[in-house]
Amino acid sequence: MAEAHVLVFPCPAQGHINSMLPFAAALLDTGVFVTFLHTDHNLRRASSVAGSPRLRFLSVPDGLPDDHPRSLGDMMELERSLREVGAVRYRALLASLSSAGRPSQDDSDGVDDDQSFPPVTCVVVDGLLTWAIDAAEELGVPALAFRTSSACSFLAYQTIPELVELGELPFPACGDLDEPVRGVPGMESFLRRRDLPSLCRRSGGTGGVDLDPILHVFAEATAHSREVRALVFNTTASLEGPALAHIAPRMRNVFAVGPLHAMSSSAPAPASSLWSEDDGCIAWLDCQPDRSVVYVSLGSLAVIKHDQFAEFLSGLVAAGYPFLWVLRADTVAASKGQHTTPQESIGAVGEDKARVVAWAPQRDVLRHRAVGCFLTHAGWNSTLEAAVEGVPMVCWPFFGDQLINSRNVGAVWRTGLDMKDVCDRAVVERMVREAMESDEVRSSAQKLARVVRRDVSEGGSSAREFQRLVRFIKELSM
Ligand code: UDP
Repeated sequence: MAEAHVLVFPCPAQGHINSMLPFAAALLDTGVFVTFLHTDHNLRRASSVAGSPRLRFLSVPDGLPDDHPRSLGDMMELERSLREVGAVRYRALLASLSSAGRPSQDDSDGVDDDQSFPPVTCVVVDGLLTWAIDAAEELGVPALAFRTSSACSFLAYQTIPELVELGELPFPACGDLDEPVRGVPGMESFLRRRDLPSLCRRSGGTGGVDLDPILHVFAEATAHSREVRALVFNTTASLEGPALAHIAPRMRNVFAVGPLHAMSSSAPAPASSLWSEDDGCIAWLDCQPDRSVVYVSLGSLAVIKHDQFAEFLSGLVAAGYPFLWVLRADTVAASKGQHTTPQESIGAVGEDKARVVAWAPQRDVLRHRAVGCFLTHAGWNSTLEAAVEGVPMVCWPFFGDQLINSRNVGAVWRTGLDMKDVCDRAVVERMVREAMESDEVRSSAQKLARVVRRDVSEGGSSAREFQRLVRFIKELSM
């Protein structure tokens, strides 16, 4: 049998990298070689050190100028540019790594000169990069799809054609958003219109079933997964068993191997942050009493308006607990006539009561004894990270799977509260208090944490699924 060598290729976004890098690290433990493929831009920003002779980082261009913001509003442009410019280099790179087994001596193909890696035997590509999956198969390299979002949201996207046929989608934005959604199997008892991505809402007119073009991209990528030889989810049966059970029969092979960041491995996953982490907040947390701090982070992409920021801030101050708030430079949209920066407004609360950082070592923060609850956008990584640490959540979701994740938190797992659609200081205050003080919510969160940790420990469902996946990958190398 040839030695297994997997090329892992995430979408060039923080949440996708944070999900797929722990996957790469877990593979290393099984003796597999891994080439982790960034974009040039992200490789420079992440400055990850391999830390293993069987791991290396390579990159392809994303086709955008270096000073391009690559923010949420530019995602479609980034996707198109990567598909047009990056795809050419990706194909050349993969052809070189898989056939010769060693990189070309010609520096122009962007491949380093490391001769110790065997040929790439398989690729695990972000399921949204359908062109990269197809290109690999065309080159004769087996390709698996990895989805970094929740299985529930995948199932909802997969069901979009049926929902359109049933007349459930799109629905009027001004109608009753509490209406249940029929047709997503296993979720009929709790899924409401407001839990579907806002792109499903029709803002003007009455007739027609035209869906937002971005939603089409997601739905198409999801449909594409039906054809791939295997689909990997960073989730676990304990969290999303019913959704996984409905997805599996429609796919060739499904593996639920998460939460990957909690899977024990001999070496921790290499650093993956695209922002530099402000470790000073840990020293600040060290000075706070147990479970007294509200940790606030809306992830790597979400942007809020200034008046929403003001509602959050007032609600947090009124709740009375100290808080640690992650505000990237672009988290709060610039607004005319605003003389105080959000950072200054938080600073005015006082250093003992409030701390603001541009980027935090989130997993360490959530693990810290001083953190009592997490005010979050319910991105899938953040949701998993809070679940593993048993930290109650208050969710204010923005887009994509966040709306379904937060519904799971509030109504299914009952490990937090779902603030969805309402950004009001009184609601923030009430929900933060409840998440901090409710024994019921805390005990559900801690119970779930025990279950999820068991899943990834030896003999647990995700650990077994991971071993099955490794066997699958090694068989592809024969
Ligand atoms: N994160 C971090 N520091 C921060 C904020 C976020 O390390 O200050 C990490 C977080 O731990 C998570 C990722 O960034 O792994 C965000 O991914 P998620 O899926 O939650 O949201 P997205 O950024 O994709 O919207």
